[in-house]
Amino acid sequence: MGTQYSLFFIQRFKGKVLFNVPMSDHTSFGIGGSADVMAFPQDDGDLKELLNFAESKRFKYYVLGGGSNVLVRDGGFRGIVMNMADGFGEITWIDDTRAVVGVGVKLSRLLNECLKRGLGGVEFVAGIPGTVGGAVIMNAGAYGFEMKNTVEGVEFVGRKGKRGFMPSAEIGFEYRKSDMPKGTVAVRVHMSFTKKDPEEMRELIESYRHRRKATSMVGYPNAGSIFMNPEGRIAGRLIDEAGLKGLRCGDAVVSEVHANYIINTGKATAHDVLSLMATIRDRVYRSKGVLLEPEIKIIGEV
Ligand SMILES: Cc1cc2nc3c(=O)[nH]c(=O)nc-3n(C[C@H](O)[C@H](O)[C@H](O)COP(=O)(O)OP(=O)(O)OC[C@H]3O[C@@H](n4cnc5c(N)ncnc54)[C@H](O)[C@@H]3O)c2cc1C
Repeated sequence: MGTQYSLFFIQRFKGKVLFNVPMSDHTSFGIGGSADVMAFPQDDGDLKELLNFAESKRFKYYVLGGGSNVLVRDGGFRGIVMNMADGFGEITWIDDTRAVVGVGVKLSRLLNECLKRGLGGVEFVAGIPGTVGGAVIMNAGAYGFEMKNTVEGVEFVGRKGKRGFMPSAEIGFEYRKSDMPKGTVAVRVHMSFTKKDPEEMRELIESYRHRRKATSMVGYPNAGSIFMNPEGRIAGRLIDEAGLKGLRCGDAVVSEVHANYIINTGKATAHDVLSLMATIRDRVYRSKGVLLEPEIKIIGEV
């Protein structure tokens, strides 16, 4: 399998390349079959080469950040997973309140950096795993705040390796969504923060951590909220009221702590999770008249 890819990687690519990679090792769920190839681009040049190569060979590709919002099916992924969590790790300060942040930067690191400088805006990410890239693409949010509020624009590499900048207003941010053109890979995010008293920030972060402990320390691998909150409703509450906490399919279980979390209590497969999700949707629809939509991204072969 590797040979059709390997020549290119030997010749042109600076980053690490792995073949036949279990996606369970690269997702917070700990679930998923193998990807044919996982490449870790180190910079824009690497990424450009990689995109050109994938397109010219008509290989499918998928862009991965920290893998904390993704379910990979059991048959794995036929193509190239571009893992952005290895390179793109720089934070460059432009002035007192604005920075250009690489998509591979972990949210926890960004938060620490902001706290050190007394810059508010991303306190809500305390306890959210993953990278800045994944968080921007998902427009991650909590406690009434969203990533989009701090984003001025996104530098990207697109089809045919074309580089560009998309201002925030054109990114089409919505609840847990953005609308970057298909095939576009974000590389750096231009962010703007607000000056804030570090002590006040610390207290806020602590209160978020406390709330998170009570509501979502579920004790097993998971991918955070499985379903989006329907307009004006809370998915977890609907699932709880439908009596589904503790419902199990194989080793996939609806968490007793947070009904919108599915936990992998051992060797759950993607099939287990997807069956459980189908049952949840069906039971919530029948008892509440609300059709839940997945928040997690589902990829790969059955
Ligand atoms: C315990 C736990 C708690 C969580 N709590 C929250 C929460 O409170 N709020 C919330 O919103 N989310 C939450 N999440 C979900 C998840 O952590 C966030 O959505 C996170 O921002 C995803 O980042 P990631 O780097 O892991 O992205 P991934 O899961 O790797 O990817 C997410 C999406 O972004 C795309 N993507 C990633 N990087 C790029 C890039 N550079 N260019 C283009 N596309 C890219 C992927 O293709 C995929 O579609 C939680 C998850 C867990 C496990």
